[in-house]
Amino acid sequence: MSHSTAPASRPRDTLGTHDVVNQPAPRAGHDLWAGDAILRTHAAHAPEAPLAEFGAQIGSAQMREAGRLANRHAPELVSFDRAGRRLDEARFHPAYHQLMEAGLGRGISSAAWTGAQAGHSQHAAMAYMFSQVEPGVVCPMVMTYAAVPALAADPALEAVWRPKLTAGAYDPSIAPVEAKRAATLGMAMTEKQGGSDVRANTTRAEPDGAAYRLRGHKWFCSAPMSDGFLTLAQADGGLTCFLVPRWLEGTRNAIHVMRLKDKLGNRANASSEIEYHDALAWRLGEEGQGVKTIIEMVHHTRLSTAIAPAGLMRGALDEAVWWCESRTTFQRRLIDQPLMKTMLADMVLDLEGTLALGMHMARAFDGGSETDRAFARIGVALAKYLGNKLCPGFVYEAMEALGGVGYTEETPMPLYYREAPLNSIWEGSGNVICLDVLRTLMRDAGAGEALQGELATARGGSAAYDRALDAHLERWPRLCEESEARHFTESMATLLTASVLLRHAPDAVAQGYAATRLEPGARGRSYGAAEPGDVDALLARVRP
Ligand SMILES: Cc1cc2nc3c(=O)[nH]c(=O)nc-3n(C[C@H](O)[C@H](O)[C@H](O)COP(=O)(O)OP(=O)(O)OC[C@H]3O[C@@H](n4cnc5c(N)ncnc54)[C@H](O)[C@@H]3O)c2cc1C
Repeated sequence: MSHSTAPASRPRDTLGTHDVVNQPAPRAGHDLWAGDAILRTHAAHAPEAPLAEFGAQIGSAQMREAGRLANRHAPELVSFDRAGRRLDEARFHPAYHQLMEAGLGRGISSAAWTGAQAGHSQHAAMAYMFSQVEPGVVCPMVMTYAAVPALAADPALEAVWRPKLTAGAYDPSIAPVEAKRAATLGMAMTEKQGGSDVRANTTRAEPDGAAYRLRGHKWFCSAPMSDGFLTLAQADGGLTCFLVPRWLEGTRNAIHVMRLKDKLGNRANASSEIEYHDALAWRLGEEGQGVKTIIEMVHHTRLSTAIAPAGLMRGALDEAVWWCESRTTFQRRLIDQPLMKTMLADMVLDLEGTLALGMHMARAFDGGSETDRAFARIGVALAKYLGNKLCPGFVYEAMEALGGVGYTEETPMPLYYREAPLNSIWEGSGNVICLDVLRTLMRDAGAGEALQGELATARGGSAAYDRALDAHLERWPRLCEESEARHFTESMATLLTASVLLRHAPDAVAQGYAATRLEPGARGRSYGAAEPGDVDALLARVRP
């Protein structure tokens, strides 16, 4: 019996026991920029060349293989050397370093800070593309990007660290930051007794000359091999932000990595529990101003967590569409089966909405005006909330489009599926984000006005949109009760997405989104339980 791949048309009675028919070839590398019309629409304001080069390289078969290997061979903690001396090192497969080198080398963490045109948009588009290949390594790269603005709280520290964080290079060597070509930074806020409520932190900071000594623990600290960590600790003046370097001149800082977390997904990335044993730390900002200082970092990581779900959705939908293009069931290709078409077209609407809103927020981060900054403060929370709430259900439906094989580790679907809930949990979990939205609207008149302005500009573009905006404003003329914050945030985020699509997306997308996501009762609870409109035009947005 032969082991060949026979054409689907070969008569059944001529097939050998192991002839393979009607199994689409695995998807090899493909260009993540040239092959993505949706991204090119919503990143049109950013320079094309760096994104085109990034998409071609990161989407290559070689990088996809590196992503697979970095997941299969998760990092290991090496606590001690042979003689029993502390090492506290997370050791990675070479593929992890290859991915870090590619991302940092192409400017994913630095483009926003080196004067590049639309640098935050470049960062967001790169994070979106990278998440399709290996989302775990995006974490250390995003934290490095996001730490840069927080350093402005201390010009002396900024002078040392900023050039290394923005060097556009990867240097994993073990040395003090001054001796390195490039550096990465992580963040350590969460403690056992409270993550969202960081004011419950118990780690103590005692002055030691010009520096401080930290004693305490952190329950989550991702990328523990970073060159330093922005950390919150209690000083005499209250909760304070510190920069804790991992390496000191000639010695390791007293940061003990207790264990690595055994996580659902995000496997290529190491996330650890650490303890500070009188670790040396430099104060960043005034004592008692810790939240104010580190919020700069959190604000920027939120941009990445708002765009990352779009990357996971894109990766999963690409696989589904690829499969449906070649798989035949009941004498028709799946892509031509009316019900499958409706389902996939419905999914395109959420993919395009999530990506469009994420890139729109990146554009606000790039904008220099006070209105841009005010809009970014509220809009990024709305984008992070909605995209991440959609992502797990979306990825699951894409997985199901592949049938049984989608549930196997030989496809990237389990990788996307395991990663899908994560961006909602960190950088403000769902409820915390909703309460932040309320707080921002209550205290920050500029943010509220900027948001109203964004919503108003799309009026007249769709009757469904106008009706939904009126209904929202009628129901909540001011703010809502805390208990309603999810309903309010979801409604506001959906309206904002529609407003962006009505201004920047093709008609089939914008009208389809408004008709199905804003009209009461127009859509059921699962993908395909709707009339998404011009199905062929929607599918054309994602077909290879
Ligand atoms: C893989 C991974 C990596 C991580 N890496 C890092 C890292 O590098 N550095 C770091 O500092 N942290 C990190 N974290 C921690 C993460 O940021 C926290 O887990 C998150 O902020 C939530 O904090 P918590 O776990 O203490 O949950 P809690 O704060 O106890 O919250 C539990 C739930 O209650 C909800 N909730 C909280 N307050 C309210 C309220 N007032 N009303 C209604 N609901 C509420 C939250 O939304 C959440 O759903 C990581 C987490 C994971 C999973």
